[in-house]
Amino acid sequence: MERIALFERGIDSTPVELLSGEYGPDRFFMKRDDMVPFSFGGNKARKAAEFYKEIAGGDTDVVMTYGSSSSNHCRIIANMAAAMGLSCHIISPEDTSQEGKWEPFYNARLAGLFGATVEKCPLSLVAETIERRKLAYEREGRKPYFIAGGGHGNPGTEGYVKAYREILAYEKENQVYFDYIFHPSGTGTTQAGLVCGKLLSGDKGRKIIGISIARQQERGREVVKDSIREYLGARFDGLYGEEDLVFTDAYRLGGYGQYNEAVKKTIEEVLCREAIPMDTTYVGKAFYGMCQYVEERGIRGKNILFIHTGGTPLFFDFISKHFGAVGGFQGKQT
Ligand SMILES: *Cc1c(COP(=O)(O)O)cnc(C)c1O
Repeated sequence: MERIALFERGIDSTPVELLSGEYGPDRFFMKRDDMVPFSFGGNKARKAAEFYKEIAGGDTDVVMTYGSSSSNHCRIIANMAAAMGLSCHIISPEDTSQEGKWEPFYNARLAGLFGATVEKCPLSLVAETIERRKLAYEREGRKPYFIAGGGHGNPGTEGYVKAYREILAYEKENQVYFDYIFHPSGTGTTQAGLVCGKLLSGDKGRKIIGISIARQQERGREVVKDSIREYLGARFDGLYGEEDLVFTDAYRLGGYGQYNEAVKKTIEEVLCREAIPMDTTYVGKAFYGMCQYVEERGIRGKNILFIHTGGTPLFFDFISKHFGAVGGFQGKQT
């Protein structure tokens, strides 16, 4: 099995930038996890770096995972498997939504380039399809390793415990304290890691706020809490308090993949002003949610860190959809 030097060494920092534009009466910083230097980066690259350790230490010959055709996670895992010389098998729910309406998602194209096998099944049959495929590989004498959708699980959480430590190191080095940390929250693993990092460092001061991009309040919060409990084990009862977990579904805009004109405008503004790309499903939507949250609660004069969790190929889906010129430039012409 081939090695990946970056993952062997470990991801130890991503840039943190003070934003130039005004997004509210506070100072806004952005941690550029979209710049993790592996396969267009993002939080799935941080998580993959932890799953890598388990795979590289074993005798796996096929990496299995689950995700949709727009999945950043599937792109990263397919790239990791290709780099390690392993097969990759993706179980994917049949897409009834956007696929084929204009063009396939860039993440799906990349997974194809990496040579991943994609097996589609109805959403209701996902769990049994995964189980059946795993058994079929085992019967052939192969050694599958299954990674949960989105890189959910303790290794994924570990990736963001480490990211939290990077934030502490940045603060120390730059003499700044972030009163708030905002980020998009999906499966909740990113949030669980950040909260565990905070609890383990004994820092009670700041708030970590997950902006739900899909799940509704009750279930979304419960899943993050379960991940925190699973990671902390026996330390959970002594460390965790309900006030440590802030998860809001106020900006989910109807659910996964849904966005509105204000999100689109926010993405365009941040791209023009900061030269930073964001997507509509996760980062642009959560950045918009953060701005609303800060305004609605009258949060002023604070240092706010937003974590850019990646998804650059989805940014290009956005560009293809809204700015898809055929045969040349579009927009203002003289
Ligand atoms: C998957 C993903 C998220 C959500 O992360 P979770 O750990 O599942 O909450 C956020 N942003 C991007 C760009 C993602 O790909």
